[in-house]
Amino acid sequence: MDLANGKTYWNHTFNGYVYPKLEENIECDVLIIGSGSSGAHCAYFLSETNLSVVLVDKRDICCGSTRANTGLLQYCNDKTLTSTIHSFGEEAAVRHYSLCVQALQTLKNQVVPNLSNQSDFISRRSLYFASTENDVPMLEEEFTTLKKYGFPAEYWTRERIQSHFGFSKAASIITDGDAELNPFKHAQSLIHYAHNHGVRVYEHSKIIRKDHSADKNMLYVENGSSITAEYVIYATGYESQEEVLDPNGVIVSSYAIATNPIREIANWYENMMIWETARPYIYARQTIDHRIIIGGLDETTTRVEKRDSMIIHKRDQLLKQLCELFPELEGKVKADYYWGAFFGETHDGLPTIGIYNDYPNSFFLRGFGGNGTVYSIILSQIIRDLILTGSHKDAYLYMKERPTKR
Ligand SMILES: Cc1cc2nc3c(=O)[nH]c(=O)nc-3n(C[C@H](O)[C@H](O)[C@H](O)COP(=O)(O)OP(=O)(O)OC[C@H]3O[C@@H](n4cnc5c(N)ncnc54)[C@H](O)[C@@H]3O)c2cc1C
Repeated sequence: MDLANGKTYWNHTFNGYVYPKLEENIECDVLIIGSGSSGAHCAYFLSETNLSVVLVDKRDICCGSTRANTGLLQYCNDKTLTSTIHSFGEEAAVRHYSLCVQALQTLKNQVVPNLSNQSDFISRRSLYFASTENDVPMLEEEFTTLKKYGFPAEYWTRERIQSHFGFSKAASIITDGDAELNPFKHAQSLIHYAHNHGVRVYEHSKIIRKDHSADKNMLYVENGSSITAEYVIYATGYESQEEVLDPNGVIVSSYAIATNPIREIANWYENMMIWETARPYIYARQTIDHRIIIGGLDETTTRVEKRDSMIIHKRDQLLKQLCELFPELEGKVKADYYWGAFFGETHDGLPTIGIYNDYPNSFFLRGFGGNGTVYSIILSQIIRDLILTGSHKDAYLYMKERPTKR
């Protein structure tokens, strides 16, 4: 799958680490296939255990969809808490939102401080505005639900938004405890940490064949080298749909730009991350080198040619949307980077751990959704515990057979 095209930004901000190709037959307790956000978090958390771990990727390290990620980390999901309660019931939905809050805290307090370059992680609040007047009752209901269960949120009226941002939106929710980071640097740093703690890492090593019939899993790389593994984690992102199709998964096309550096933006309060109630939605953030990233304008196509043929048009539309929010940028802003990429969601709004009879002792980590990074933190810890102890009390939420309310 051709995951992303155009001129992506993050790979220009950081020289990745280099790892060898696999050229021999090896054994391990756990094989992680994939070095994006999902595989990197698995490698990080497993490096803290006594298990022998191998990570392989067919591309350069972290050059799947993680390099197209725009790096907004939020505890609120594309599917509101209110709507998640309708689908899964109060207990499961509130637990899922609490796990997203916890994942952000784990990242901030435990993971990032261990990394050599801190991943450009910055705690931020988010502004979630009503795209139209019609969305205000839904936003009010969501605010009431968030407060009822103790999630950190404020409700801002039109006047308050206007006095802090200049633009006029009917209402918004401000959430606390969110963060921005550089997703490419972060995944690279996680793998670097894991490698320093004993995880063997190989790039340009594509798994092309598996034999799950023996006691252990045998996986073969293109050049004939093999890996014998007790457990396998398929952290292969949206391409996992080509291995085993999850009918709950949906692939679409998404677009983003990173502008030229803009030093002063008078009306962008606290550099908050900005998003909206429309679906698909527009979102925006700033970077540590003073660029603005704005993304969205999703299209349903899964054809690479069609996705890529729209990159220039989407770039111009995103710039226009940015200037509508911040008219002072008109004439000063241009897109230094612009890209289109496949993006995975789920019909029911939750990410998934897939376990299949044909893949013994194997886990498919599918962090599909706009909160993919937060999901990969949650799911990688659950999978680590499933391997270590055979259970995790929250695993039921994310199993592909999860219980719905109806
Ligand atoms: C435009 C855009 C913006 C986004 N913005 C955000 C955001 O702001 N916040 C957020 O949290 N998420 C965001 N996401 C989602 C986020 O990018 C994904 O959730 C995340 O990158 C998925 O990581 P992954 O590790 O699962 O997949 P990937 O990064 O694709 O990693 C999978 C890896 O598996 C490897 N692989 C596949 N098959 C094989 C094989 N057979 N052998 C060896 N290796 C293999 C691939 O080469 C790849 O490197 C965004 C996505 C897009 C497209």
